Amino acid sequence: MTTYDLEEDEEERVKELDLDSEADEKSIVRAKRRLRPGMRSEELFNWPIEEYWKKQGLLANQEYIQEMIRKNPKNVVDILALPKYQDNTFTDKMQWLYEHFRQFFTDISQFLVHLQHDKGNIYVIKINKTIQVCNKRNCPKMQATEKFRYRCAAHAKPKDCSAMSYAVHTIDDFSKKFQNKKEFPSRYGNKISQESMKQFNECARRVYRIFAHAYHHHEEEFTKYEDEYWLCSRFITFVYMYKLIPISHLEAEAQIPPKALLKLSTKEWAHKVGDVVTAKNYNDENT
Ligand SMILES: [Zn+2]
Ligand SMILES: [Zn+2]
Repeated sequence: MTTYDLEEDEEERVKELDLDSEADEKSIVRAKRRLRPGMRSEELFNWPIEEYWKKQGLLANQEYIQEMIRKNPKNVVDILALPKYQDNTFTDKMQWLYEHFRQFFTDISQFLVHLQHDKGNIYVIKINKTIQVCNKRNCPKMQATEKFRYRCAAHAKPKDCSAMSYAVHTIDDFSKKFQNKKEFPSRYGNKISQESMKQFNECARRVYRIFAHAYHHHEEEFTKYEDEYWLCSRFITFVYMYKLIPISHLEAEAQIPPKALLKLSTKEWAHKVGDVVTAKNYNDENT
């Protein structure tokens, strides 16, 4: 997977910010929130979540999102909701979306490892059950049910990649696009123009298909992962909350049924995510 060269620059700038910072107290808080060699696993990240508005630096959004996920991955609505500053203004929406997409790339890469299991085997036998691994032999075409077949658009000319290659290529492709400094100059402030919404829309549509494949062709593994990490639920909620795929387009895709996703009450959905209409789309079995 691609690494992000934006980070180096930003680390430098973070250091500068640190030097400028007059408050020793902040340095102490920062020091306490550092991972050190020899720490026990239960000590890792074992610090309280810092309120959003107290966060400083270029990676504030990333840090906050990761803390929220670690605290409770099931709390998808709060993880995704646009945070506020102390003066009640919201953080910049485009930067927020951008940071969530980056987090999804990392988390989906983990999910893909889970779907592949041992790459050398066709099947993995687990407690008397045969689980189908997602690889070139089992899933030579990218599809979600027999009805939906997708060509991989990560190439100069769209290709028929296997399902796993489609997923990896898509994540790599957008990871690279999201490093384009013209379009995404910084992870801080409000530097991403509304124009980039097109990239977000396209990315959301293609990533959705990865989940649709996983659900329809590896349901057991999908469910097991979802029960622990709620990744697809977070993604679908993200799509609805920020209208990243028009409802009519989403309806035309292979459906991931509400029973496969986190249950949210219609009331909570309508209040925090979208309106009553989208609540029905996502959630009509979950009232
Ligand atoms: Zn597969
Ligand atoms: Zn491909």
